[in-house]
This record gives sequence, structure tokens and C-alpha cells, in this order.
Amino acid sequence: MLSYDEAYNIIRNNFSFLKTEIIEVGLLNSLNHILAEDIIADINMPPFDNSSMDGYAVMFNPEIMQWNLIGEIPAGANSKVSINDNSTVEIMTGARLPAGADTIIPLEDVAVEKNLIKLKDGAKISKGQYVRRTGEDLKLNSIAVHKYTMLRPKNISLAAACGASKVKVFSPFKMGILATGDELVDINEKPENDSIRASNNYSLFTAIKDINMLPVDFGFVNDKPEFINEKLKSALGTNLDILITTGGVSVGKYDYLRNILEEVGAKIIFWKVNIKPGKPLLFCVYEKKEKSILIFGLPGNPVSALVGFNLFIKRNIFDYFNIKQDDTFRAVLSEDLHKDDSRRHLVWAFAKYEKEKGTYSVRKSGRQSSGNMAGMSNANCLLIFEEEKDTLHKGEMVQCIRL
Ligand code: AMP
Ligand code: MG
Repeated sequence: MLSYDEAYNIIRNNFSFLKTEIIEVGLLNSLNHILAEDIIADINMPPFDNSSMDGYAVMFNPEIMQWNLIGEIPAGANSKVSINDNSTVEIMTGARLPAGADTIIPLEDVAVEKNLIKLKDGAKISKGQYVRRTGEDLKLNSIAVHKYTMLRPKNISLAAACGASKVKVFSPFKMGILATGDELVDINEKPENDSIRASNNYSLFTAIKDINMLPVDFGFVNDKPEFINEKLKSALGTNLDILITTGGVSVGKYDYLRNILEEVGAKIIFWKVNIKPGKPLLFCVYEKKEKSILIFGLPGNPVSALVGFNLFIKRNIFDYFNIKQDDTFRAVLSEDLHKDDSRRHLVWAFAKYEKEKGTYSVRKSGRQSSGNMAGMSNANCLLIFEEEKDTLHKGEMVQCIRL
């Protein structure tokens, strides 16, 4: 059976066949899109020397402790006032420094007597204080936001300051979802007669939206080979990049998916990975003239399905778009954990920052049966319990993936 790393790498190689286009979107619609160009600073930032405090602008001279007030400069005033070492102007945060000024004295450090500004006893000034220099944040023509950044409000702030009202981003992958199972009913129904609600369409749809890809819901279908065949054909006939199915990939009598995928012309790349939950992962490629579709057959179990999505699909999409993944962290285990197989376990867990110790501690979130949706819902990370280990000891450092 393939190890997690082997399976991951095979999938990654196949991702390289996917194609993406570059599209232009308005900056307001760019949230969580992946930038397909560098955004360049079209001005110096800040564009002029300005004050970072409300106060008084002076020409620094260690001998001088008081100045004549000759005016004021609000932000944006475009003032032509200039000063010498005996004069000062009141200046607001963000206002351009008057000619001759190199230093700002904050309001709270001076006493004002009519038109005389005096440095308070004990207040100190150093040359250049509270001045934001032209271009100190970003120089004209330098890269403000790098290609392959997933645009967050902090990046959009800078892009807006550079006047980038439209930006080039990669078009999102179109990702289909098809659930299979005789027991499934719509979530608006009260499940009766051994049925269960088809929740995977919802978790996967929103997991896809969460990484700003484009979900297409093909609903769910009974475990009848002819129905599955028909549904698969119609899904694969659309211009999807990725199709995710759930259910029907285990070894049960009604787990038809593998055979039917072959029947409709998909190439099986692998089946089963040495992990828990999510072992029966099926990975196929459906080759078409225009573009190939990667197919992930995830187990039907909602917990396994989301583990499979997070580990193999989401992370590979991030890799494809060169997005830095900084979701792995180390935490101190708060309890012993045991397992009696040589699979890699992904344990739904809850990590918490321990202020006094300056580290994260982590404990598992409820029972780890693959049916435990409540434990999953209460978790905030997946703890990695490696293949070769049978015990993780309390107090040990473990690797976790933030969710
Ligand atoms: P399977 O992978 O088809 O053997 O299904 C494994 C378990 O997941 C069974 O208990 C199913 O009832 C459940 N299951 C399958 N599909 C779904 C779904 N779409 N939503 C929620 N649970 C499901
Ligand atoms: Mg089933």
C-alpha cells in the first residue's frame, strides 16, 4: 500500500497537468484569489516625508528648547510654509514636513505659551524622530505584493495604495462533487428507514469555497451501477478540473465506484493509502482532448472525506499555485496516545496556547472512530501520529496541522 508521502507525490505530479488561466478581477472581488502577477509600487510609499505624530515640526538643534509658532499644517494641506531653527509649525499626523524641518516633537512633550512652544522639563528629542521618510515603506517600482500571494485584506490594502484597482489572478479550479450511497437522503429530510443525511456535499462544497475554488454540486446517487455510470459520464463531460466523489470505494459488495470509473474510461492511478482515517482513497485521471480531470474517490465517511480533502486535495492545490503553507505547528501532547497498526493516523485534536509555558498543548478531540462528526466539529487541528510509532507519550512534542 502507498504511504502518505508516496500518494501525495503521485497526486502532485498529476496536478502539474492541470491548466489554469489568468483572469482580471476588480480589487474588491480579489479576496482569496491567487495573484498571477507582481503588483508594483507606482509611487514611493510614503510619497513624501511626513509626520507620524500630531505635534510640532522643528529643525533639530540640541541647543534650542523653544520655538516661535508660525503656522499649522493639516494632513493634505500642500503647505508652502518653511521654518528655521527658531520657528515651528503645528503639524498633524500624515502632513508633509515643512521645508527646513527634520524632526517632530509630539504634542504631549511641549508647553504652549501664546506663540511660544517650549520643550517640557525632562522631555527629550532626537534628530529625525517621528518622521516617516519618502519611500521608507516601499520604493517606487519595487514589488509591493508578490505573484502567487493568496490575496488577503492586508495585501489588498497595499495593492489599493498602489492604485491596483484591477489585478490579474489565476482562474480557480472547477471542482465537481458527487456523493454515492443507497442510504443517502437530502439534508432537508428527517432520515427514516436506515437512511442518513447526505452531508458530504455540504462539507466538500464549502471546503472548496473556503480555498476560493469553484464548487459544482452533482448531488448524490444511489449505489446502482447504471445510475453511477450515467452521473459520472455527465460530470466528466463538463469542463471540470477535478471531480470528487464520496462513498463506494471500500471493499463492500456495493462499492462499485472503482469498476465504473474504469468503465467510463478513467485511468486508476492508485487505490488505498496507508493512513487512518481515509485509507480507501481512490485516485484516477480522466484524459480528455481539451483538458484532463483529476478524480478523487474519497470514502463516504464524512470524517474520512474531510481528512482526504485536507491532506491530498487542498494541500496539493496550494502547492500547485505555489502558496506557502504555514499551517503546520508543534505542540506538547497532553495525554498518551496508542495505536496498534503501522498506518499514519490523523487525529482530530484541539490545540490551545499555554501562556505561561509559551507553547501549544494538544489533546485529541473525542473518540476517533471515523463516524465521530462531533469530535471533528470540536477540533481545530489534525495531529499526525506517524506510521512507525505505536505510542505518543504525554509531554512529547507532536506535529499538528491547523484547520
Ligand atoms: P462508504 O464509503 O460508502 O462505505 O460509506 C462509509 C460510511 O459513510 C457509511 O456509514 C455511510 O453511510 C457514510 N456516508 C456515505 N456517504 C455519505 C455522505 N454523502 N454523507 C454522509 N455520510 C455518508
Ligand atoms: Mg456506501
